[in-house]
Amino acid sequence: MLSKISFAHLPTPVENLTRLTQVLKGPHLLVKRDDQTGMAFGGNKTRKLEYLLADAQERGAETLITAGAVQSNHCRQTTAAANKAGFNSILVLVGERPAAPSGNLLLNQFLGAEIVWTGTEDRDLVLNQTYEKALNEGLKPYLIPYGGSNARGASAYAFAMQEMIDQDNNVDWVVFPSSSGGTQAGMVVGAEMFGYQGKVLGISIDEPSLVLKERVAALAEETAQFLGIDRSFTKDQILVNDSYLGGGYGIMGEPELEALQLFARYEGLFLDPVYTGRAAAGMIDLIRKGFFSAQERVLFWHTGGTPALFANAYESQLSLGWKD
Ligand SMILES: *Cc1c(COP(=O)(O)O)cnc(C)c1O
Repeated sequence: MLSKISFAHLPTPVENLTRLTQVLKGPHLLVKRDDQTGMAFGGNKTRKLEYLLADAQERGAETLITAGAVQSNHCRQTTAAANKAGFNSILVLVGERPAAPSGNLLLNQFLGAEIVWTGTEDRDLVLNQTYEKALNEGLKPYLIPYGGSNARGASAYAFAMQEMIDQDNNVDWVVFPSSSGGTQAGMVVGAEMFGYQGKVLGISIDEPSLVLKERVAALAEETAQFLGIDRSFTKDQILVNDSYLGGGYGIMGEPELEALQLFARYEGLFLDPVYTGRAAAGMIDLIRKGFFSAQERVLFWHTGGTPALFANAYESQLSLGWKD
């Protein structure tokens, strides 16, 4: 057994999206609530961190170091998990320190993470420099990759697939946002391991489909190896749709805003502006185009991210004309 520190609330619920199914006149829609993993507002990184932190602990590490965007959910969940398990945390965040923190950044500040800003320098360069510095200072650092997406982190989503199958064994499609690829790689491996018969469709958040497919296939192969399974994966087996990149990473456009509104108004469910809003917008567009048949069952895997709803960047759009 792969060691883990258990802090996630599992299994996360699977719910029917009854009203959304009706209003979209599409396939039967379900949602898996990984926005409710239970750690500091939840999200998909919680599952990965259960395994990564166990490894950090076994190696005698004292400081977790990772990187992300200003509104990184991964960094928020890493800092929270670090606090609970008794590690210090250093976050490398891309860009310049804003005048006022909001959303995830405010939570990271409050959780007490040390924050290093990259400015104009390369993220991975600064991450490695930060790691070396911490090592030399005797802080016993443990490096968690971007998005927690290495074989160990991705393994969590292989096991999550089994969790889903145990809850509902008749899902035809799993649809979710895909970015650093760990979630999708894990799901793909889990589908093989546990005999999931449906399809795993990642909606790309910020990468051309070819890049993401290759990344996911490579990581799936590593993850399978890590779990002791003899399977290889090629990019042609990985389903990615990159038609919904919109205005780029973190930019909320009309499709994302509409998706957020539909989920909120018909299901009382909050999506996030960066990841699940974009993936849901893609799923809704595919439904309208008749991509899924009416008999199919489509599970939207909610990966979290909701604290970004409170980021200054989205305030004017989300307040729906309040100031007009
Ligand atoms: C990180 C993140 C994703 C993407 O997951 P990857 O494993 O990096 O592909 C999706 N949704 C949310 C809310 C995230 O924070």
